[in-house]
Amino acid sequence: MKERSISLNLLDFVRGLLRLRSRTDEVESLGVNMFSLNQKENQLPRAMGRRSFLIGAGAAAVGLAYGYVHTSEPVRAAATSADLPKKVWIVEFSDSGQRKTVMSLTTVMKTEDEWRKQLSPDSFEVTRRAGTERAYTNENPNEHAKGVFRCICCETALFDSSTKFESGTGWPSFWAPIAKENILETADNSFGTVRTAVSCRRCDAHLGHGFDDGPTPTGLRYCMNSVAMRFARAY
Ligand SMILES: [Zn+2]
Repeated sequence: MKERSISLNLLDFVRGLLRLRSRTDEVESLGVNMFSLNQKENQLPRAMGRRSFLIGAGAAAVGLAYGYVHTSEPVRAAATSADLPKKVWIVEFSDSGQRKTVMSLTTVMKTEDEWRKQLSPDSFEVTRRAGTERAYTNENPNEHAKGVFRCICCETALFDSSTKFESGTGWPSFWAPIAKENILETADNSFGTVRTAVSCRRCDAHLGHGFDDGPTPTGLRYCMNSVAMRFARAY
């Protein structure tokens, strides 16, 4: 009985540690990058130091480290297939960013298993679970090459590389979507603040968040997850 009690206490300790790490990660990631660019300089060094310690402690305890921040109540993940319209208007673009036609297309609806089969685990967590990838894991190749960033789930054109800018956040950032029709912006009230969640109009994939502290000409900043998109280079 005594041994059992000790092992249960250890389990509780590990659980507590994970909860602490998870919560701290959420707050720090979002505090540094998901609210205002102005907070970044002051908070980054301290946040990174404490996070590194906690990651080390958590990994040592259970040999586990994961790279996602989950909203406590995923905003778009709550949407079910029944919530989506059957058809949506989508503007089609060539890989060189040339606007083609506006088409009425069938909404892409798949089961969770189907999405898991199609997507990498990283892309699944972000797009279907409203997760956020760690900053500075941008894997989009040729980041300033000419081309179009497309939805990793359904290939809808989302951003033209000509609107990409260096935000310093560690996430690919754009000052405008390629077409307003192709994305959906909704209020995200998680973490006690109001942000704008950005998703793909055709398949409801969570892409990232929108802010109004971007550069000219729009003053907007679309802060995206790189794993939510595929870069289609123009040739
Ligand atoms: Zn999509």
